[in-house]
Amino acid sequence: MKRVSLGNTGLSIFPLIYGTLPLGSLQADLSPQEGGRLIRYALEKGVNCIDTATMYGTYSHIREALRGWGGEVVIATKTHTADPAAAREHVELALKELGRERLEIVHIHGARVADPFTERAAVLEELLKMKEEGKIGHVGLSSHYVEAFRKAAAHPEIEVVHPLINKIGLGIIDGTAAEMAEAIAGCAGAGQGVYAMKAFAGGNLISEARESLAYVAALEGVHGIAIGMLSQKEIDANVSYFQHGVLDEAVWDELEKRRRRLKIMEQFCKGCGKCLDICGSKALSLVNGKAVVDESACVLCGYCGSGCPEFFIRVI
Ligand code: SF4
Ligand code: SF4
Repeated sequence: MKRVSLGNTGLSIFPLIYGTLPLGSLQADLSPQEGGRLIRYALEKGVNCIDTATMYGTYSHIREALRGWGGEVVIATKTHTADPAAAREHVELALKELGRERLEIVHIHGARVADPFTERAAVLEELLKMKEEGKIGHVGLSSHYVEAFRKAAAHPEIEVVHPLINKIGLGIIDGTAAEMAEAIAGCAGAGQGVYAMKAFAGGNLISEARESLAYVAALEGVHGIAIGMLSQKEIDANVSYFQHGVLDEAVWDELEKRRRRLKIMEQFCKGCGKCLDICGSKALSLVNGKAVVDESACVLCGYCGSGCPEFFIRVI
């Protein structure tokens, strides 16, 4: 299978990374067995890098997928906390739940953090300490901010970056797609591994999936793209694209017809506003005491669902 070098990390990955966010309770809420079967199927097809996060709730799915798996695998997870002690707990939890002694990549999960090097300095220090202890292979940064990656290029302790990019720039908090593309090239030029997220803008660009994928895949410095996949058909179509550059038009015609949306159970919403604080895209507001989404700003990440104490929000 095709492999690409992830910057200077020494890791070789298939350029399609399995994004596990849609499998967990924030989105499709598949059982560990169902989700695990899909991930395992992708591993058998040649995918060797899995992207997850503390808040995705998909460690049990990954553990299922890896049961009895003897092949190579690179696991990238993320910690969203500002507290170094909690970051350590997140890493320990991932190691325990995944049954591993070392995580290849742990990102500062900085979607809404404008300057991770000041706002998450203590977490970065803690992650670097855990790298010295052998529990982390490489420290990374995921973000929706262009500025975060402009800064990251000058921080060699960050070895992998996970930027949000899509052809319309939806979800980028402080700039355009062109500006993010420039920042990405800067990171890659500095030797950092780059794998992108939200190439389909969380589903908003699904009707232009082929074009959207081609845009991100052609960007200078992008080594891989994380894509959330919920069926074997999607896995096959994506593997074929990344392995051979082949697009089965009939399959992609069908895939481009899928529609996703954010569902807020309005009748139950208590109007507490907690979900508004979570949304980095500022797509939520309270109208007449109920949470309401601006679909033109929403990237369908599903993070707001983690902020709702009553689970009244989900991407469907
Ligand atoms: S409204 Fe929710 S799903 Fe949409 S961008 Fe905000 S956090 Fe993500
Ligand atoms: S967090 Fe839940 S209950 Fe509170 S406003 Fe948002 S959807 Fe409504």
